[in-house]
This record gives sequence, structure tokens and C-alpha cells, in this order.
Amino acid sequence: MSPGASRRHVVVVGAGIAGLATAYRLVRSANGLPIDVTVLEAGREPGGKLRPVEVAGILVEGGADSFVVRKPWAVDLCKEVGLGGELIVPGTSGAFVWTRGRLVPFPARSAFGIPSDASGLLRWPGLPFGGRLRALGDLWKRPRKDEADESLGSLVGRRMGRDAVDILVAPLLAGLHAGDVDRLSVQATFPELQRWERDHGSLMRGARASLKGAARLGDATEDRSLAAKPAAAGPMFATVWGGLIRLVETLENAIRPSRIHLQSPVSAILPPPPGPRAAGGFVVQVGEERHTADAVVLATPAFESARLLRPVNPEAAVELDAVRYASTAVVVLVYPEGTAERLPDRTGFVVPAKDGMITACTWLSRKWPSDAFGDRAVVRCFAGSAVDPAPLDLSDEELVAAVDREVQQATPLGAAPADATVVRWNRAMPQYEVGHLERLARIEGAVAKTPGVFVVGSAYDGIGIADCVRQAGEVTGRVRSYLHGVGTAQPGDEMESEAFGWTK
Ligand SMILES: Cc1cc2nc3c(=O)[nH]c(=O)nc-3n(C[C@H](O)[C@H](O)[C@H](O)COP(=O)(O)OP(=O)(O)OC[C@H]3O[C@@H](n4cnc5c(N)ncnc54)[C@H](O)[C@@H]3O)c2cc1C
Repeated sequence: MSPGASRRHVVVVGAGIAGLATAYRLVRSANGLPIDVTVLEAGREPGGKLRPVEVAGILVEGGADSFVVRKPWAVDLCKEVGLGGELIVPGTSGAFVWTRGRLVPFPARSAFGIPSDASGLLRWPGLPFGGRLRALGDLWKRPRKDEADESLGSLVGRRMGRDAVDILVAPLLAGLHAGDVDRLSVQATFPELQRWERDHGSLMRGARASLKGAARLGDATEDRSLAAKPAAAGPMFATVWGGLIRLVETLENAIRPSRIHLQSPVSAILPPPPGPRAAGGFVVQVGEERHTADAVVLATPAFESARLLRPVNPEAAVELDAVRYASTAVVVLVYPEGTAERLPDRTGFVVPAKDGMITACTWLSRKWPSDAFGDRAVVRCFAGSAVDPAPLDLSDEELVAAVDREVQQATPLGAAPADATVVRWNRAMPQYEVGHLERLARIEGAVAKTPGVFVVGSAYDGIGIADCVRQAGEVTGRVRSYLHGVGTAQPGDEMESEAFGWTK
């Protein structure tokens, strides 16, 4: 960039974690190219799926509740914005599965729900005896040679049988996506499982290898700060003391609130006219309001990005629209004083699809203990998924009553909830179905045909917060490279413009 080069302007659409992290990185790392950023967010608050909700006078997470630590990007971002000293880890560990009419702890020494030793599996009461024997078949079954993608259900079913799919794997792994174990892609969700089969000839041996050497969590210490835990502690979650909203607010301040326009739903994007890339070529419309931009980052759900891109890039719109989404509801129940101790000392339980309406239940007052809870049991349940969307048809009252019934069946609390709330997440969980990675390549190829437009977020390469932050870093690099060429003719500009029917 020559001295005195004019500033570039990027519009980021959507202020979820992906949009905020992208805007933050664009603003922060000028790298010789001064960039102005405007974030346009449809909602009243930034944060997207990072949103607290108040119930019984306490704030709890209404959406995401933590991020994985073994993928370092969210932790690194927190450290970068000054929240490193405020990262906390769960107050307890381990979860149950609700199966055969009772809560059963997940097998000891398991990874992604896959037990690592035969004797433990043989004794594990969560599976019927025949199911245990069938699951053990994993140890001598020949590995598949073909490296094509398949569903999580297909891979685990081939190796360990259907009971293992339904009870061990689906509630835990497909549950994270509110997804269907028989449609979710192994390669796009848990590629480790495919590697385990290939490299170790067995999922159980792969689980054992992955656990080997992982340092034990520092369970002995009461210090819940992340800094107090050993670095190589294996898979583990963390959040920010006070909730993920603090990360959102800190990013908002670092970006500068004046750059974030709330209640600004983008209605259309007009691309630059064909020819040399002129500065400020894009027009981003919010109703009658128009923002010019050198580049546009769509950090919106794929179906929304499809809608915005359809007039200028129908090919990209078709691929984006093909990413299916599932809906789910979060139901938070606060039980009266004196109930907290009735919850077992674990993080909660998951439920196989056939065994209940709840898909997962977190005992918040165990997992994220807080003085604000007092002596109250506070639980947070998910209901509704790609497999069973029916719970979402219930009214809030019906949902609360049904969820409370199942919670009390698993852990009698001896009292009705004193307060409850429901947060509905409509079309919120992107489904990485078999073939997702190929679709991703097609999306990237198609979006690239509208130079200056970029997509980022949970629809693409990882739904978790950590992966969204990583993707934000990656897209920032691509935006920056693109901006270096703005204002100069690029070979192929005309051809691309004609191919997508732009008019002067
Ligand atoms: C209930 C729930 C629990 C979860 N739990 C966890 C968890 O514990 N850990 C974890 O790592 N992940 C979790 N996830 C996943 C994770 O929270 C999300 O994948 C991630 O936050 C998505 O971020 P995003 O920025 O891609 O999208 P979003 O958060 O969806 O942000 C997109 C933003 O775009 C805005 N928008 C849409 N259309 C327009 C428009 N036309 N103009 C302007 N703005 C627009 C939306 O209002 C929204 O704010 C959970 C998700 C859900 C739903």
C-alpha cells in the first residue's frame, strides 16, 4: 500500500460471534491497510446465539454456554481482549445418559462417547447385554477401505451396532448439532472417528490412543480459573466469568459501538458495476439506508446469505440454501431453595431420541456454580431437534411442564419449579450432512465469483464458538488480500461480471 493510500471500508453483516470477531480483527490488524468497518445487525443486541436470559432474577445463558478449550481460538481471543484472567472451567465433570429408565454415567475412559476398554464396555449397564457384545465386535471387525464420507450413524453402526449409535453416540455427538446421527457427516463433524478406524482398525482402540497421554484435569484444586488447569488437559470447556455476554461486550467496545448498527436488517446488496474494481463499489441496503463498501462479509445464517446473494450470484445462493437447519428450544427451570444438593455431582445428562423429549439437560448449578443461584437447583434443557421437531409445537407452558416431568423422573427434586423460561431457537443449528465438505467447496467456489463478498460463520466449517472465531481470522486474511487489489483493474473482472449478469 502506498503512503497516503485511502482507507478501505468493509461492511460486516451480522453481529454474532463470527461477525464480531471478523470486525474486531479487521479493525485491529491494519497491517499497512487502514480499514473502516461497519457492522449491520438485524437484532436489538449484538451476540447472535450468545445471549443471556433472565429467570428468577438470575442471568443464565439462553444460547451457547461455553467453548471448547482444545480448539484454542476462542480462548486466544479472550486473552487478546483482556479476558484471559476471567476464563473459568466447569465446577464438575462427567455426564450421565438416561437409558433403560435410569441415569447411567458414561463409561469411564471414553472419548466422544466411545469406550476405550473392552472390560469397561462389557460391564457398562447403559447398553443391553446383546448391545454390549455387538459393540465389542469393533475390536476385530475389518476396517473399511473406502475413504468416502458417511454418516456418524453409519460408521458407528457398522462397527459397534445400532444400540451403541442410539445410546452412546447420537445423544452426545449428534446432540451438539441438534442433528440426526444418520444424516450428519463424519468428515464434517467428528473426522477423528474415521481416522481412528483407518489408523487403529477400531474405534475403541482409537479412543484409547486419543486418551493416552492426555493429562488428567486438575480435579483436586477448587480453583476454577482456566489458568489453574494444566495446559494439556484434553477436551474441556471454558467460559468467561459472568457469561459469554462479557466477550460480546468486550468485542463491541474494542470494535467501537458507533461502528455497530443495531436493528439494521440488511435488505439487499448491490455489487459494483463491471470493470476495474472501484473503491466503495458495493452498496449495502438497510431499507432506504445505503452503505457503500469495498467488501462485504456475510456473517449471517446460510439461508440469509443465500437470500442476500440470490440476485447477484444465484449459483452461490442455491448452494447456501442447501445447508439445512434444525430448530431447538432451551428451557431453563429454577427450583426452590433447598433443591441444589439433590442434583448429582455431574454436569447433567443426555437422552437417546427414543427415550424422552429432552435431548440434553445441564445442571447449571453444578456445572457453572454461582452465588446467585443460592441453594436452588438450576437446570437447562434442550428439546426439539432435526430428529424430533414436535416439542417445538408446544406452547411455552406445555414445554415447561413436559420438560419438568422428565427432569423430575431422572432426578426427583421434590418441588415444582419456582420459575422457568423458554428460549426458542428457530433454524439455528446448521446441519453438516453427508457431503457437507463437498458443498463447502462448491460454496467457496461460487461465492468467489462475486469478488469482494465473503461468507463466514457456523454454517460452514465448525458450528462451535471456537471454530467461528477461527473462521473469522481466516476470512479477515482473505478480505485483506482482496482489498489490496481494490482500485486497480484485475484480470478477469469483466468476464466474472458478465457471467453474473451485472448491469451498469
Ligand atoms: C441453543 C444453542 C446452544 C449452543 N451451545 C453452544 C455451546 O455451548 N458452545 C459452542 O461452542 N457453541 C454452541 N452453540 C453454537 C454456537 O453458539 C453458534 O454456532 C455460533 O454462536 C454462531 O455464530 P454466528 O456468528 O455464526 O451466527 P449467529 O450467532 O446466528 O449470528 C448471526 C447474526 O446475523 C444476524 N442477521 C441475520 N440476518 C441479518 C440481516 N439480514 N442483516 C443483519 N443481520 C442479520 C442475526 O441477527 C445474528 O445476530 C449453540 C447454539 C445454540 C443455538
